[in-house]
Order: sequence, then structure tokens, then C-alpha cells
Amino acid sequence: GTVGAVAIDQDGNLAAATTTGGMTAKAAGRIGDSPLIGAATYAQNGVCAVSATGHGEYFIRVAVAKTICARVELAGESVGDAAQSALDQVAELGGDGGVVVIDGQGGYEYVFNSKGMYRGMIDPDGIETAIFEQE
Ligand code: ASP
Repeated sequence: GTVGAVAIDQDGNLAAATTTGGMTAKAAGRIGDSPLIGAATYAQNGVCAVSATGHGEYFIRVAVAKTICARVELAGESVGDAAQSALDQVAELGGDGGVVVIDGQGGYEYVFNSKGMYRGMIDPDGIETAIFEQE
């Protein structure tokens, strides 16, 4: 399965990383969204960092990670709103999945249109983990 991460350091540098096993029964030679910068993975200091999981073909078509950061940078949206908009576009095309996003101040969101998404967060105050929607 996919492991994706976003992070901010004490100097405000943002980073994103995504690794994946691909999709079940994928075609030989298929390249998914995970290694494509702007599809499942993107980071821009002062704006946001994104890591995505899901049906890669749809994430590539929407350029999900770059789209989210562009909405934050150019439209002034929160990372949560921008992520929801991008995932709505993925859903319209028939795909599902989710993202972890963090903004330039360290605010973060998990947004997904799949049934659940294994996820967690660590900061100096502790750790939180979840799978399904949070109450
Ligand atoms: N997004 C990946 C792909 O399409 C699948 C995954 O979520 O790991 O290759």
C-alpha cells in the first residue's frame, strides 16, 4: 500500500513524499501518480505540501497535488478547502482516494472520498491516528 507523508521543519520548510505498490492487476510498466511531481506529490515553501493515495490515473488527470497548492497560493483557499475541491474533481471523473496536506504555518488536514484512510500525525504535543471519518 501507499505511505505518504508531509512535514514542516522549524524553519518553515515544507516537504512531501509518496511511495506505493501501485494498483492491483496493474499493467506491466504502468507508472502511477505517486512518483509524478504535481500528481500525488508536491511541496512549495510558504504554500503547502501534499501527498495523495488513490486511483492514480484520476489523480494524474487532475494534477491533484499541484492543483491543491495552486488553489492555496492563487485563490487563498485553506488547504482543506483546496483539497476537497481537487478530490471533488477526482470523484467527478470516477476516482477515489485521499490526501494529507499541510500549509505553510503547519496547519494540516486529511481529506478523502474513500471509505477510510489510514493516517496519523505527530508533533511535539503528541500523536493522533485514525482510519475512518473523525467524529
Ligand atoms: N496512487 C497509487 C497508484 O495509482 C495507488 C496507491 O494508492 O498506492 O499507483
